Amino acid sequence: MDFAIVAPLGLLIGSFLNVVAYRVPRGESIVKPRSRCTSCGEEVRPYDNIPILSWLLLRGRCRHCHAQISARYPAVELVTAITCAAVALVRGVDAGLLLDLPFAAMLIAVADIDLEHRIVPNKILLPLAVWGIALTAVVRPDSLVECLIAGAGAFTALLLTALAYPAGMGMGDVKLAGVMGLYLGVSVLPALLVAFLAGSVVGVAMMVKQGAGARKKGVPFAPFLAAGALVGLLAGPELIDLYTGAFLR
Ligand SMILES: [Zn+2]
Repeated sequence: MDFAIVAPLGLLIGSFLNVVAYRVPRGESIVKPRSRCTSCGEEVRPYDNIPILSWLLLRGRCRHCHAQISARYPAVELVTAITCAAVALVRGVDAGLLLDLPFAAMLIAVADIDLEHRIVPNKILLPLAVWGIALTAVVRPDSLVECLIAGAGAFTALLLTALAYPAGMGMGDVKLAGVMGLYLGVSVLPALLVAFLAGSVVGVAMMVKQGAGARKKGVPFAPFLAAGALVGLLAGPELIDLYTGAFLR
């Protein structure tokens, strides 16, 4: 039942994330004007703006000028719906979703933006950090100190990594790690571990495939941080139990 509410909600959130990911890096307002075709400028009618369905019905083209509409838009909507449903399923439907859903959603937007523009916008990180601290104080007051420490710790750890290896990551990644700590608490540890492992595997694979060029170009790291954060959000405590059970007993 909860699932049936959260999944469609996730589609709408995903639709909003597409607006965020397109407009925030371009310095445009996310509130108005209404969405327009990026080719012909024609306003997208509400009935052509239904998540996934409209893209399928229009076969990925603008109704007006028939220019192709990227498949990344329905893809983001689908990923967001699945993510939101998974968060609700694993974390339960309570006031905590006011923290978990915006966090998960903005991770998807951040990954999307970093893949295309190679930036992690402060315009997303700052409100997300403020929301995280404020809502944690209200909804999970017992976790507030843990989350503040985890945020500062993750920020510092990535700052040191970035200073030691400047080509590997930027300040956007450092700040994103700090925000992840604010939302994840101690689960930021497995989140960062997953991010570094996945980033290393993909980085090495790209270097093997594309040679030194890939190394120079670099791999955007925020998508790996985002993926790690989702793992931390959905399975952080279990991963920590697994680790302490395997190595500390
Ligand atoms: Zn058009």
